[in-house]
Amino acid sequence: MYLSQLLAPALKVKDVGKETAQKLANLKIFTVADLLLHLPRDYDDRTRRIPFAAAPQNGGRFNTTAYIEGHDFFFSRRKRTLKLLLRDESAAAELPLYNWNPHTTAYRYSVGLRLDIAGTLAASYGRLAITKRDDMEPAGTEPELFSAVLPVYGLTEGIAQKTMRKIIRFAAAQFAVHLDDEIPGSLREGLPEVSVALKAAHFPASREEAAAGRRALAYRELFLLQVSVALRALRRKAAVRGARSVSPALQEKLIKSLPFRLTADQEKCAREMRADIEADHPMARLLQGDVGCGKTLVAFLTALLFTEAGRQTAIMAPTELLARQHADNAARFLEPLGVRLAFFSGALSGKARQSALEALTAGDIDIVIGTHALFSGDVEFRDLGFVVIDEQHRFGVAQRNRLFAKGLYPDVLVMSATPIPQTLALSAFGDMDVSVITTLPPGRKPVETHLARESREKEVYDFVRARLDEGRQAYFVYPLIEDSEVKDLKDAQSMYRRLKDEIYPGINVGLIHSRLAEEEKRGIMAKFSAGEIRILAATSVVEVGVDVANATCMVIEHAERFGLAALHQLRGRVGRGTEQSYAFLVYSGDLTEIAKRRLKIMKETTDGFRIAEEDLALRGPGDLTGLRQAGFLDFYAARLPGDKELLFAARKAAYGLLEKDPGLLAPENAGLRRLSGEEA
Ligand code: ADP
Ligand code: MG
Repeated sequence: MYLSQLLAPALKVKDVGKETAQKLANLKIFTVADLLLHLPRDYDDRTRRIPFAAAPQNGGRFNTTAYIEGHDFFFSRRKRTLKLLLRDESAAAELPLYNWNPHTTAYRYSVGLRLDIAGTLAASYGRLAITKRDDMEPAGTEPELFSAVLPVYGLTEGIAQKTMRKIIRFAAAQFAVHLDDEIPGSLREGLPEVSVALKAAHFPASREEAAAGRRALAYRELFLLQVSVALRALRRKAAVRGARSVSPALQEKLIKSLPFRLTADQEKCAREMRADIEADHPMARLLQGDVGCGKTLVAFLTALLFTEAGRQTAIMAPTELLARQHADNAARFLEPLGVRLAFFSGALSGKARQSALEALTAGDIDIVIGTHALFSGDVEFRDLGFVVIDEQHRFGVAQRNRLFAKGLYPDVLVMSATPIPQTLALSAFGDMDVSVITTLPPGRKPVETHLARESREKEVYDFVRARLDEGRQAYFVYPLIEDSEVKDLKDAQSMYRRLKDEIYPGINVGLIHSRLAEEEKRGIMAKFSAGEIRILAATSVVEVGVDVANATCMVIEHAERFGLAALHQLRGRVGRGTEQSYAFLVYSGDLTEIAKRRLKIMKETTDGFRIAEEDLALRGPGDLTGLRQAGFLDFYAARLPGDKELLFAARKAAYGLLEKDPGLLAPENAGLRRLSGEEA
């Protein structure tokens, strides 16, 4: 039996009833395997006894045996508190028991009773008080609990730490004793096999053993992921379709018609993609480049190679708004060349939708631009040659898997303005070739970034006013759409009114957020683009892709509430023309150390890759446009970038395995497909 085959519901574990199973589902634990892979988030090392006096006196941990020296009672309203006065060999400490009920207390706290107890304490007014009691039992009744390294699990409401420990113990005893390892020993890099690793991670004798267990499980996790990556890559390379020659006449025509010259990186990327198309296996390329570096144009250039060959292109954007913007650009650049364009989204219905579908099937459309509705069931192409997926990382992976599983290998380009750190790129997109645009179009100046305390917002408003007087435009971004009773935060709606009536009277202000209808959003963006609206009060909907070159100020209020990736994207909305642009990160209140560091990084650099690496190190994978949510980066054991070396080793081993035995690539090799999660 393999761990990946333990798909029995968690309900099968002893002591897990219906109710507990439902609560476990909150933690995304459904199967026995999920339960075994719910690794401790920390350990409580109780192998050492720590008497009261030896615990650091501010939140320090202790683990001792004490006796009850006396009692104190406190009554207030209907609550009663029993204060136990405990003493061990080193000192006395007080333990308050709130809402104490003498009738339901399991054993009586009589003076002289000896208790094993572990928790944290703090000194206050010269006395030691127990601030958190993790475990307390009559002395000697549960020796394990006070002498072992205990796993500390992530919990959900209604499941106590103790219960979780018990359930996982049962799961391991019932199901994990005779586990085989999916990964043969020769590919395991000398790491322990899975049953040993699980035992070490959950029930270690020391922290070192726990770390070794986690490492082995992280390797297993990364290896299996890389098997699926390698399968995709090698199957694609094996899907020989014969080399094709392309004619670049249309492409050259577009380049000639541009009012600017391509940057060197754009030229390089366009060349790389042309080579992909001429190769004898399908293209799968990730095009990374900061916002505004001109990726979309490169995608258009490549699409033209297909248009010229009489084949179709589908370009998919994450939102209707962005799809529209791509469509507008396409109309500007491509329509004059005679390219037949169409727009397709979920908002399209009735006759319009029907005729778009028919045109696609008949091949009357060369390039269709739209949202993910493009890949809904009833959309059929006459000859889909090229798929471009913009800023839809989750979709990028899932959609390709689906196409490949059907044996379809169109050329695929995934574009990301969210710089993906190498370790994550290798995990989610490890089968793709990568192109990077690092240079911005000439004349662009890096955005000047300033940090400002909320109390100095007036200076920010004045600075922006001066830019408005020069004819420029500005974004003001807020963390909330509307006023919230619970949080003391500025919101887009209220600030829209303030900006309009108080701060910049006489200047046309617009409001945009995700709850507006598409139609309305489009109207407002069009007015902002045209300069009719001068200030846009917004939420992070303006994050990706929105492109108005005359907007040179980006004010982000409560900047401490945005992730680094979001801040970077938002800042990328300005600096898109030749004017100097400015970003103001306005923060409020006392910042945590991490928040401070994040804002500082934003001030120090505009290098998206560096920001992404820092973000990864500070916060973990976050949610790269849905990737994590969709489970692609939701690692149970691996930690990136920390486990970089393991990742490289796993990658090498996975490719090695599949390259040595190409028979494994056959689609009918169900075992391997299951192993790699392809058949989940
Ligand atoms: P991205 O998709 O990478 O965010 P876009 O392709 O939308 O960037 O380009 C941003 C803007 O820069 C667009 O208005 C585009 O027309 C313009 N642009 C693209 N390439 C160049 C270039 N080489 N020189 C000047 N402007 C360019
Ligand atoms: Mg873009």
